Amino acid sequence: GGRWRKAEAVVRELEERCSTPAGKLRQVADAMTVEMHAGLASEGGSKLKMLISYVDNLPTGDENGLFYALDLGGTNFRVMRVQLGGKEGRVAKQEFAEVSIPPHLMTGTSHELFDFIAAELAKFVATEGEGFHLSHGRQRELGFTFSFPVRQTSISSGTLIKWTKGFSIDDTVGEDVVAELTKAMERQGLDMRVSALVNDTIGTLAGGRYTDKDVVVAVILGTGSNAAYVERAHAIPKWHGHQYGMGKLQVIALPLTEYDQAMDTESLNPGEQIFEKLVSGMYLGEIVRRVLLRMAEEAAFFGDTVPEKLRIPFVLRTPDMSAMHHDHSPDLKIVGNKLKSILGITNTSLKTRKTIIEICDIVAARGARLAAAGIYGVLKKMGRDTIIRDGEKQKTVVAVDGGLYEHYTFYRECLHSTMTELLGEGVSDTVILEHSNDGSGTGAALLAASHSQYL
Ligand code: ADP
Ligand code: MG
Repeated sequence: GGRWRKAEAVVRELEERCSTPAGKLRQVADAMTVEMHAGLASEGGSKLKMLISYVDNLPTGDENGLFYALDLGGTNFRVMRVQLGGKEGRVAKQEFAEVSIPPHLMTGTSHELFDFIAAELAKFVATEGEGFHLSHGRQRELGFTFSFPVRQTSISSGTLIKWTKGFSIDDTVGEDVVAELTKAMERQGLDMRVSALVNDTIGTLAGGRYTDKDVVVAVILGTGSNAAYVERAHAIPKWHGHQYGMGKLQVIALPLTEYDQAMDTESLNPGEQIFEKLVSGMYLGEIVRRVLLRMAEEAAFFGDTVPEKLRIPFVLRTPDMSAMHHDHSPDLKIVGNKLKSILGITNTSLKTRKTIIEICDIVAARGARLAAAGIYGVLKKMGRDTIIRDGEKQKTVVAVDGGLYEHYTFYRECLHSTMTELLGEGVSDTVILEHSNDGSGTGAALLAASHSQYL
């Protein structure tokens, strides 16, 4: 009837607006390389922030001793300790703990957030047991992975440019996050020194390089998105002497819909991180919710009344979207269960459930294809989009981490096939995307080791 025709029209319009043909993706990739050059040329030269990492050596395998890592960057934070045994012993032992961040701390005060983190870290340090040895007379050292835009001032200091991914704490902006953490550790009576401040991308790059020398790019597809790669110092006009750059993926001319625009306007950082808002885990489920809400309002998609829960921002999380998307049961039972448990919607028809999967498909495919275009743009900038460079055959390994890439199979596979589509069969054989399983934690600990005060 009329309802279905209206619902169908919304889906077709969505599909059209989200379409990402190869030509469009090439434009995105080219815009990315242009912005990367501009971002390297001058501070504020581009909306694409090309942040210098201050990491001037990646792990060699010689790293030795006990080191800690702390990863703050999204919904959870992780603490870990690693006993490194040099070339022979490698990672002799490691342990970690994961703590979810109470939502009220994400928008509270800097003091409260860092106190919470330092307290959890102190608890973890207190459980250090067999197999971990701190050399006599040494202070414990930490690699701090802080995955928000930071302007670094040294390997172990940097000021927060702005919060992203749902964090919003005014009094941290412009402050040195290492100083904030250090003060909080002192308040907890924890004797520990931050010897490296890195981003999750740099941590992943370091962790990836430790296990595979061909790793030259790291990409994060989790709550947010970001990438890091090795840049030659002479190619960074705004900088002299350091080798590693990283860039927040954000480009112009993106396939935006009314849902994306409304989500952006209502976000804590309107007008910022637009690329991230199309490709990363924090947002995909929310985009689907907005489409469903419009269908409920304009096409009575779930019956005469609009389900109240469907009006709650971010109520549909990306892991739930992915669970529905991957439902292969004949009656789409998982879709039905999710609709009931999350949105309070019962008695949906098979046709309704199929339509929901179609929406997940459109939103996830756009995200994955744009992510591929972003990675392709980075590879082009690096001259890694060809088989031969400087007369030699090259092999490129991209270390990818993040819960979205790890768990959302459709997204990951779509990303991979789009990479092949963009690179072409021949070149794509020389580019390997490798899942880095918490490489960023180990990477941060390794960088703490190679930047230790005792070296
Ligand atoms: P971060 O460190 O950025 O917080 P993680 O790498 O831990 O992120 O990834 C968490 C994110 O991954 C979640 O915000 C979610 O969006 C996404 N995610 C986790 N599990 C799944 C899943 N099963 N399907 C799809 N996305 C998932
Ligand atoms: Mg992370």
